[in-house]
Amino acid sequence: MSTSTMPQDKIHAVPSTPTQYIYFFGGGKAEGNGKMKDALGGKGAGLAEMTNAALPVPPGFTIQTEACREYMRSGKVSPEIDRQMDEAMHRLETLQGQHLGRGDNPLLVSVRSGAKFSMPGMMDTILNLGLNDQSVAALAERSKSARFAYDSYRRLIQMFGSVVLEIPKSEFEEVFDAKKKQKKAKLDMDLDAKALQEVVAEYKKVVKKHAKRDFPQDPRESWENDRAKYYRRINNISDDLGTAVNVQAMVFGNLGETSGTGVGFTRNPATGDREFYGEFLMNAQGEDVVAGIRTPVPILELERVMPKVYGELREITSRLEKHYKDMQDFEFTIQEGRLYMLQTRNGKRTGRAAVRIGIHMVEEGLITKEEAIFRVEPNQLYDFLVPRLDEKASKIEVLAKGLPASPGAAVGQIVFSADAAVKKAGPADKRVPVILVRAETTPEDIHGMQVAAGILTSRGGMTSHAAVVTRGMGKCCVVGAGDLAVSEKDGEMRVGKQVFREGDWISVDGTTGRVIKGKLNTLAASPDNSELRTFMAWAEPFRTLRVRANADIPPDAIQARAFGAEGIGLCRTEHMFFATDRIPHMRTMIMARTEKDRRAALKRLLPMQRKDFIGIFRVMDGFPVTIRTLDPPLHEFLPRREELMVEIAVLEATKPKSPKLKGLRTVLQRVEELHEFNPMLGHRGCRLGISYPEITEMQARAIFEAAVAVAQDGVKVLPEVMIPLTGTRQEMANQAAVVRRVADEVFAEKKKRVEYMVGTMIELPRAALVADEIAQEAEFFSFGTNDLTQTTFGFSRDDINKFLPDYIEQGILKQDPFAVLDREGVGQLVKMATDKGRKSRSNLKVGICGEHGGDPSSVEFCHQIGLNYVSCSPFRVLTARLAAAQAAASDKLKVEGGRTK
Ligand code: ADP
Ligand code: MG
Ligand code: MG
Repeated sequence: MSTSTMPQDKIHAVPSTPTQYIYFFGGGKAEGNGKMKDALGGKGAGLAEMTNAALPVPPGFTIQTEACREYMRSGKVSPEIDRQMDEAMHRLETLQGQHLGRGDNPLLVSVRSGAKFSMPGMMDTILNLGLNDQSVAALAERSKSARFAYDSYRRLIQMFGSVVLEIPKSEFEEVFDAKKKQKKAKLDMDLDAKALQEVVAEYKKVVKKHAKRDFPQDPRESWENDRAKYYRRINNISDDLGTAVNVQAMVFGNLGETSGTGVGFTRNPATGDREFYGEFLMNAQGEDVVAGIRTPVPILELERVMPKVYGELREITSRLEKHYKDMQDFEFTIQEGRLYMLQTRNGKRTGRAAVRIGIHMVEEGLITKEEAIFRVEPNQLYDFLVPRLDEKASKIEVLAKGLPASPGAAVGQIVFSADAAVKKAGPADKRVPVILVRAETTPEDIHGMQVAAGILTSRGGMTSHAAVVTRGMGKCCVVGAGDLAVSEKDGEMRVGKQVFREGDWISVDGTTGRVIKGKLNTLAASPDNSELRTFMAWAEPFRTLRVRANADIPPDAIQARAFGAEGIGLCRTEHMFFATDRIPHMRTMIMARTEKDRRAALKRLLPMQRKDFIGIFRVMDGFPVTIRTLDPPLHEFLPRREELMVEIAVLEATKPKSPKLKGLRTVLQRVEELHEFNPMLGHRGCRLGISYPEITEMQARAIFEAAVAVAQDGVKVLPEVMIPLTGTRQEMANQAAVVRRVADEVFAEKKKRVEYMVGTMIELPRAALVADEIAQEAEFFSFGTNDLTQTTFGFSRDDINKFLPDYIEQGILKQDPFAVLDREGVGQLVKMATDKGRKSRSNLKVGICGEHGGDPSSVEFCHQIGLNYVSCSPFRVLTARLAAAQAAASDKLKVEGGRTK
């Protein structure tokens, strides 16, 4: 055969089976199934699975994610997709005996997006597509309810306007609220057909004004032309997995008093109790229940109103739970007494509920203990540690009671917008507690919800956006506190005659739903819970990675032990010097001009430091304690330069003869000598101990004297002395020699030896590169991943927030590398250094002690590269333990981390 000279596109036109872009469901059969989440998205897969199980699901079809990805690549929808979609639409019309938006019985559909992992409320749905000026009349005629028809039409214009034409929702809401006011209607339902007709007319004007076009009257054409926009909108919020789109025949919950719509859970998502749980509204459509426009009715009421439908719903949802072997979160609609299922997915739940449901399902024989391990996200264990309000200490004035949407307590200053929350809350390490107060939240509020200590809404139910999202975040939330009148525009919250503004303090109890005036104290939670113990006892045997805690003072060490820490991975000695009785000695030491004076000051610090170590060693009886020698630059212990200058200037002007002046000037001079342009890379870490070996000596002496003292009392003590910020073997050798010499001196003096180790913190890329050499001197490595991330990326942790949002938005970084260990870069350094280090010293002990030690994904990575331990803050210890157990269990059980999504 000769070389083809055919044009490229002809070559591709060689007949082959075209991709199946569309999967139909209806008439008791679906082309897809529940396993096809990648292609059909969570929602589409659920609809297919329910259809196959012969459940009452309105028919329709799913446009699979590949179509979306293709669109993202090429910027257009291919003719083949168009063809398949026309075919599917035709098939749906035939099945229903209706035509899309035409005839006396027009077909109406919903267009629903759904990615692989459902993100509640993240994407918008369009209902009632197919309505136009003609078909609305046909619908009115056929349903014998003009009110219903125009209600459906105005909803379509509103949803289409906001999703496709990108007109702000508030434009429509203003029109609607004005109409309600004009007609003196309390509820949406109180508007009659005529009023709704007027709303439709005004909505069309809104469309014309903002989109510079008329609301499209040909439903088929409107969908075809606007598909691109729809994809673009959902693209912004989905990742490269793409999103599936479901087109489904409408069923109507707003068709009168025998119709309704609702959502529910097969178990209580807040507590995990075995109880049918949910809310519904009669004569309502779509998201009325979750949007909090009317306060929904508890689902148990449905048994009274429509016992048959209720029975059927319970039967169906129990079946779904058994089928998926997990608690289900479902949506349903009742149209004139007939039940339809619209969605089912594994429900989000609080950490306490996740543990309880896991245990119950094992008892019920639904899942195994091994499967149960994966039913709790490590971060969710935080729920067991959430604080409660201190009820005794202060006078409690309950302002309002809402629904306890997400447990815990939050005390903070009021803010009324997500942007204000971000502004007031400040950077992560210096966070000011704020409570985001809103009428209701929307996906646009996520950034504010992330930084807020708690969320409070005046509307919405247990399944509202705020409730669902905060439960996922493990954040305290109260919703539907109806006595609060929240005006975001005026920046105020009214309760009766009281007015609260931005900056006022309130306390929110997400466990009981109370909103309390003022700033209450909070009580730490006790993690001693029998269900938690049962659950952890299933997970723990799998764990191979040790979990330690970062603790500087004995009370933190006690806390860490209570949470199950197996030692201390980082004890920062500098924190011991900031106490008011110690800082003067520290300053004297720094001010000293000679070694002799320095030693004199250090001598006074020695007993204090020894006392701290004794306390920590006692608590950690039998467990290792890693103590880091002094790390920060010395100027951090002196007063700030600017403050000194002001103080001197004031004294010079007011009391020029003051004897204090001389001292202040000397301090200022020293501060200026110590001033550095970039303290993070300055005279700190082992560099200090090399310039001033007497500091290392004093610290080593305090450590070993303490160790010998407690060992004499029978405590099993395992000190590990850690030299910070080494980058060369020589640095390590220098400091290790000081430590070992002092150890020998102390052991000789006290006539007692204890086992100990000297190692280093790896936090510079150079240290990782020459780890084999450093390991000749160091008996252990502990990766200081905070500084290692700073020095590897060249990002300052304190300044990254200036550009991180841009990086995330543009997909340059997937997440904050200071929160989740960057596996490709920093992680590779950690792995390489570990491997190199162990080549020199096969029994090298390796751990990490940065913030990442408590992040589940980072813990998993540490397990995979064979570290010995992770160390994290005491409150992350439980999380790290479960993350490490899951990582090990998934090796062993070969399960795909079947976590609750
Ligand atoms: P989300 O992803 O936000 O849950 P959905 O696609 O599930 O969005 O739809 C939003 C609302 O519209 C839900 O209450 C759903 O039950 C309702 N809905 C979607 N499609 C239909 C339909 N074909 N008939 C009636 N209600 C529908
Ligand atoms: Mg939605
Ligand atoms: Mg839904």
